[in-house]
Formats: sequence, C-alpha cells, structure tokens
Amino acid sequence: MPPARYEEHVMAPHATSALLSPDEALRARALKVIPGGMWGHMNVARLPPGYPQFFRSASGCRLWDVAGTEYVDLMCGYGPVVLGYGDPDVEAAAAEQRGRGDLMTGPAECQVELAELVVETIPHADWVLFAKNGTDAMTACVTIARAGTQRRKVLVAKGSYHGAAPWCTPSLAGVTAEDRAHILHYDYNDIASLERAADEAGRDLAAVLVTAFRHDVRRHQEAPTIAFAQAIRRICDAAGAALVLDDVRAGFRLHIGGSWEPYGVRPDLCAWSKAIANGHPLAAVTGNDRFRDAAQQVYVTGSFWCSAVPMAAAVATIKKLRATDAIATMETMGHRLREGLQQQARAHDLQLRQTGPVQMPMITFDDDPDFVLGHRFVLEALRRGVYMHPWHNMFLSTAHQAADIDRVLEATDGALKQVAGLADRRQPAKATP
Ligand SMILES: *Cc1c(COP(=O)(O)O)cnc(C)c1O
Repeated sequence: MPPARYEEHVMAPHATSALLSPDEALRARALKVIPGGMWGHMNVARLPPGYPQFFRSASGCRLWDVAGTEYVDLMCGYGPVVLGYGDPDVEAAAAEQRGRGDLMTGPAECQVELAELVVETIPHADWVLFAKNGTDAMTACVTIARAGTQRRKVLVAKGSYHGAAPWCTPSLAGVTAEDRAHILHYDYNDIASLERAADEAGRDLAAVLVTAFRHDVRRHQEAPTIAFAQAIRRICDAAGAALVLDDVRAGFRLHIGGSWEPYGVRPDLCAWSKAIANGHPLAAVTGNDRFRDAAQQVYVTGSFWCSAVPMAAAVATIKKLRATDAIATMETMGHRLREGLQQQARAHDLQLRQTGPVQMPMITFDDDPDFVLGHRFVLEALRRGVYMHPWHNMFLSTAHQAADIDRVLEATDGALKQVAGLADRRQPAKATP
C-alpha cells in the first residue's frame, strides 16, 4: 500500500475556502506552514479518508472534533490518557502545582515525592530518572546499559517500536548505517532467534530490549510466552547484559508494578511514559542497583525534564491508579467490549480477530491483508460516533464505563453489518449449504 498523502485528504483543487469544513480549512492552513500538514503517528493521512485531523475538546472518554461532532474515543491520545481526559483529581493536583511554579531553575519538591512513589510502586525499581518522552527514556536505557556494561551491542525485536530517534525510528530517511551499527535483531517470542542474536553479539552484548507484549502495528498482538521472558532474563544474566523492558505503551495498563510482574521476570532497566501522568508530558527510567552508578555517570537531561506540573500530575495519577483498582476496571470493560464484539461478529458471520490484552485491544479481520474490511469497519464506526483504529492497538481508560462500552457496541453492530455486506460481495463463491 503506498503511503497516503495528506494533500489528497484535504480538498479537491477546485474547492474554495468557503466550501471547506472546519477540519479541511485547518488542514489547508497547516499544509502551508507544517511539512506535509502533519508529522508522525497522528497524521490521519495514515488512516482511511474520513477521519478528522483536529479536535476542539476532550473529556472523560469523549472527544469533539472541530465541527463539534462527538466521539467515544478508543485511542486515549494513543495511550497517555488512562484515567480519562481531564481527570478532576489529576487536574486539581496539576493546577495546585502550577499555582506555585512549573518550570523553575531547579525541580520542585514533588519530584522527590514522585520518585519515592515510583520506587515504592514498582518492585524492580531501586531508583528512577524522569524525562519527557518514551524515546528519551528508551534512549537513556540503552546509554545506561552501555555505560554500565562497557559494551555496545543491543538486541531489538524486529518490528518492535521503541521511539523516533535515529537508533530506533521505523523510517530510514535521514538515518545512517552508523546510527544502527550495534543493533542486532531477533524475532519476538522466538527463543532460537534470540540466542542466535546473543551469540552474534558475544562478549559485546550490552542489552536486550523487549516490549511488554508484541504490539507491532498492522498485525495481531501477542503476549510474550513465559519461556521467552525467562530466556531473555537468562541470556542477560549469563552475559552480564541489561534486560531493558519497554513499558512505554503498556505501563500502568496491565500491572501497576510493571507489565512483566505476572511473569515473575524483572527488568534491570525499564522505560515508561504514555500513561504515567494521565496526559501530562512525562517519561521515566526505572532501574535496579546494578545500574545505579551507570545512571549517575551518563549525562541525560532536557530543558523541560524537571517541570513540576507533570510530576504533580503523575503523583496524583499513580495514587489514583493504586487506590481505585483501575487496571481491574479497564479489564472488566475490555471484556465487555470483546465479548460484545465477538457475539456481533458471530451474528454477522464475520471472522473478527481480537488480540492483545482486552484493555489494549487490536481488532482486525481474517483474510483482510489490505485492510479493506478493517477500514470500512472503523469508518462506519466513526460515522456512528466511535473513534477506532484499524491497525494500531487501541486503549481503554477508567473513564470508559459500561454505558460507553454499550454505546460503542451499538456503533460496531451497525458497522459490522456494513462490513458483512462488503465481505459477501468480495466472496461471491461462498459455499451455500
Ligand atoms: C510510544 C512508544 C515509544 C516512544 O514514546 P514517545 O513518547 O512517543 O517518544 C517507545 N516505545 C513504545 C513501546 C511506545 O509505544
């Protein structure tokens, strides 16, 4: 599939501004002053035409586009929102800190409070550093692992996303071979390929990087097998390398102590971001005492990394996640969604494939390599007021309550009916009993 171009989504060449919708008008303005109109994962040219690019507001699990259309949002800002948009407790803590100071010449008291809370909440963590983005946190993990081991090679699973820096970005534009010189690949959940890559790295193995589960785009999601998780731990221990868990996406959605706690496999270093401050910009690296000295030696920082408001928001977020059993709530709602969809798929005679943890669902169709059915499904859901993604995992928050899930299911029932019509036309030779 060729990458869609933003321009094609904006307007026909003859359209005049008087005929443009508010979203189209903004996109036309954006095209003149932002390369391609939009960068990165939120560029809706990546989605089937029909998605709004710009939003006016958000609250709880609802989003409003610039035309005022309301959606139940199943993306949560691509992950950062875990307690719902504008959670009152988080925003009160943020506002209180903002009244006293945000970006100052040094950190606020709440930085220490947050560090204590993180170390108390996450069993593998003996210490924590804060940053802004998941990419910062993953890059710092690699740097700390290399500093601590005095080695260079880093094992990365093929297709795993770790961020947008040259060493890991999925696009090779502007990336040199030297940027990737010490990166070796293995296949997720494939112990033999892991062992081969570790052998190749030999005595130069600094770290094995692994995402909490296999949440690659455009394919079904996979939990790590316990044997795979244990194999990584064993290889790292035997080689004296660092097990780096990338919990940027799944962190605080699967387990409050880190996504691999249920496996009994703990990382040496772990990257966090997305959900830790309920939408406020913050990332973290947690680590154990083996890497404390290395974490002290490396120079990692940023102009905004010590802003106090996101840290106050993170304290409130983590306290609320712990106090309200938030993960269980998201799981309950995730099951409600998955079972509802399963019933609907059966009723419409569709092979719906639901993978990933229920609170981070991926929904695709079997035998739909070009996402023809998937695109139709999400567009029909969008028309019915539900914002879904055809090939990236989605996210639930604690703001998604039973009534919201039922609202989603109402939309998906109508959407699946349309998809079923399309699927029938694609397979005219379907056997009749
Ligand atoms: C989003 C993400 C990152 C990068 O985080 P940014 O905040 O976008 O830099 C890294 N790893 C995983 C698994 C992610 O989902």
